[in-house]
Amino acid sequence: MNNEYEDICSVCHRTESVAGKMLKMSDSLCICIDCLQKSTDMLNQSPYKDMLGMDPAALAGMFPGMGGMNNTETPTGIQENKTDNQATIVTDNKEDEPEKKEEKKDDKPKGPAPHGTFFLNLNDLMGGNINPRTKIKKRNPDEKKEPIIKLKDIPAPHKLKAKLDEYVIGQEEAKKILSVAVYNHYKRVATDTMDEIEIEKSNILMLGPTGCGKTYIVQTLAKLLDVPLAIADATALTEAGYIGDDIESVVSKLLAAADNDVDKAECGIIFVDEIDKLAKKPNTNHRDVSGESVQQGMLKLLEGAEIEVPVGATSKNAMVPMTTVNTRNILFICGGAFPDMEEIIKARLTKQAGIGFNSELKDKYDKDKKLLHKVTTEDIKKYGMIPEFVGRLPIICPLDSLDEDALVDILKEPKNAILKQYQKLLELDEVKLIFDDSALRAIAKKAKERDTGARALRAIIEEFMLDIMYEIPKDDNIGTVTITGDYIEGKGGPIVEIRK
Ligand code: ADP
Repeated sequence: MNNEYEDICSVCHRTESVAGKMLKMSDSLCICIDCLQKSTDMLNQSPYKDMLGMDPAALAGMFPGMGGMNNTETPTGIQENKTDNQATIVTDNKEDEPEKKEEKKDDKPKGPAPHGTFFLNLNDLMGGNINPRTKIKKRNPDEKKEPIIKLKDIPAPHKLKAKLDEYVIGQEEAKKILSVAVYNHYKRVATDTMDEIEIEKSNILMLGPTGCGKTYIVQTLAKLLDVPLAIADATALTEAGYIGDDIESVVSKLLAAADNDVDKAECGIIFVDEIDKLAKKPNTNHRDVSGESVQQGMLKLLEGAEIEVPVGATSKNAMVPMTTVNTRNILFICGGAFPDMEEIIKARLTKQAGIGFNSELKDKYDKDKKLLHKVTTEDIKKYGMIPEFVGRLPIICPLDSLDEDALVDILKEPKNAILKQYQKLLELDEVKLIFDDSALRAIAKKAKERDTGARALRAIIEEFMLDIMYEIPKDDNIGTVTITGDYIEGKGGPIVEIRK
């Protein structure tokens, strides 16, 4: 077995670092001392114990070093047996009796095989393998660890923003806020000064309409910093015990993104989308298991806590190992569209303006496109987020909705712009693809009408590029294809030029 990975108890699914030393029956079958102790205790109390023909004292003698058993204590500890994969399973009809696993030493158990038992190779039952997705990288607390994030590797905010500029169009304020927040966060993580000065975690709340780049900015940042990122949807979360994902499943996702390396996961980023859907529903009497309760449940994650999470699954009920992840250094970014937030802001502002001589300002805010930038924590609380939750997201980052000009830029400017991707594809067929300005405008206009931000762009382009991508490779003579606004609007075809 690879020594890099921790042993996991086959009964309680806790890892070596949590449950302590394991009795190793085979490469894939281990049992922790607690479980072994419990099973032997139960066996001792069982009314059928005599039928087993197994003397508990003899059984205890087989596992020297275990406390609590009525054996003579020997300081040798648990012996690991690497040669023999066998374990005993009791197959009598004993409802209250757990399966009994025992390690065989080199010599056979004393006396004949007990009545009613036979030997099974448990390793065969498990297919001899543990799913690699459920393995956890070993951590050695004594070893002086290299910090995952080094101070000199964290780009300064202006460099982070410059990198973001290559991919993300517009959203200047958001890029600035995030660059500074992320830089400060990782500076604290790298120097480990969170404890000394008790600096508050700089979790972030992003507000902006759908398709304006919330997820995209976070994804780009995580890539630039080379930290694991988990993207979760708040609408899928419910309070523990109800149908839906447990809140802690977001940490499992991060662990999976970090290749089950707990150290790496502990300095990753968790992005929780659609956070506005957790707002308190007004005038409800029944328990709100997917809204307010989820906000409550997230509090301890946001603040920093030791969370026991399943490895390789998002549900604790799955028969998978568990490990502990500390969320102290995990950066939480919550994002939401917060529809109608503008109304709340406007109501607050006009209320202020309504007093005294400023009352003529009343409808001044109707045309204010940057109204979302005036959002305060009070407005967010009014929206239905609980004060404790808002308090744990100290950085508020509003984003703009994308106008037509921004959409045109998104089509052609970013490093991996959609147009560049298509041009590259056709370049492989030695065909030059040109989009004229009217085409870009027409696409942006169509996208704006759909009201899903930049997300609509790809869908629109896919629609009309299908024919082009199908027809062009048919004819080897085609050298240049120009897409025009008329073609996008269905009033004409693309301009095709033959190779000279
Ligand atoms: P949301 O704000 O709903 O999370 P996304 O970040 O998922 O939206 O955006 C969807 C897609 O639109 C992204 O994958 C990205 O390609 C594109 N996009 C959105 N906003 C921008 C932007 N400001 N600059 C460049 N591309 C963007």
